[in-house]
Amino acid sequence: MRVLVGGGTGFVGRNLARLLKSNGHEVTVISRKPGPGRITWVRQKQEIPSKGLPPCDAVINLAGENIMNPLQRWTDKFKKEVTNSRVETNRVLARAIASAEKPPEAWLVVTGISFYAPSETAEYDEDSTGGDFNFFSRLVRACEAAARIPGDSAAAEVTREAVVRSGFVLGREGGAFPSMLLPFRLGLGGPIGSGCQYLPWIHVADLAGIIAHVLESKNVTGILNGVAPSFDTNKDFARALGAALNRPALLPLPAFMVNAVFGSERGEMLLEGVKVLPRRTLESGYRYAFPELGPALRDILSY
Ligand code: NDP
Repeated sequence: MRVLVGGGTGFVGRNLARLLKSNGHEVTVISRKPGPGRITWVRQKQEIPSKGLPPCDAVINLAGENIMNPLQRWTDKFKKEVTNSRVETNRVLARAIASAEKPPEAWLVVTGISFYAPSETAEYDEDSTGGDFNFFSRLVRACEAAARIPGDSAAAEVTREAVVRSGFVLGREGGAFPSMLLPFRLGLGGPIGSGCQYLPWIHVADLAGIIAHVLESKNVTGILNGVAPSFDTNKDFARALGAALNRPALLPLPAFMVNAVFGSERGEMLLEGVKVLPRRTLESGYRYAFPELGPALRDILSY
């Protein structure tokens, strides 16, 4: 397949591109910066809107300003950038697909499990409601709405649409995990806040694996939760990471410090959790390489 990947230069994108190429697919990345094997977005060169979609069989969008960048203050301006970088890129691609002479077979976007309302007891799957209680859940709803192919287009008939709602992605070359390692290595790591909040996580190899599985399956559509099929709390995570590093992991990171670094709205993402089951992902036939936390962490720490 010829696959176009928006935001393919990022952490998940690089892992996905490697997997797709090793499965025999051709990958073109859409980025803000031009380069070999890349095309650019709307705001720079008008490439996608003016020239339309290049010939391709599948389109994926992973683009988005890094929400948890601790160096970025949580201002209205940054929130707008966080929103536009996802909603507008999804909209541009959905419209380009709708007006393509030969629409692609598959169109997939990655959003997040912040769609579901935090709870220590409720259990969510892909059919659960959400998307309406805070900035992040409304952001997911807006991203998924912007990605919908207009119903009156030919593409709506022929293009499979899918959304992967990802949990906290674990890997060495990106996401939040690498910045957590130093305190844990020094024996200064521990649970965040109470530690009782659920932490839906996924090994980056499995997130890339689920996306490739959707593209290659021919009949998978709709929402899939991109989380491992095991329920772990933040305390379980700290314990497992401490064990994998052979260090104590007992020092809790207090809520006030999280809020001081990230601001209270972003801090909620770390201090509150959700229990999310990948029911449709499992039913679709995807087999996880890393369904359990301990082996996932040991694998990541081994390279
Ligand atoms: P990265 O930050 O590593 O990469 C995202 C890519 O998006 C960048 O490489 C960049 O590409 C592009 N991008 C960044 N800002 C903008 C912008 N303002 N406008 C257009 N493009 C932009 O993210 P990940 O790979 O970790 O995540 C991929 C997707 O998965 C994101 O949408 C993220 O929200 C979602 N997700 C990730 C999770 C995680 O734990 N990592 C958890 C849940 C969801 P370039 O510079 O080439 O333009």
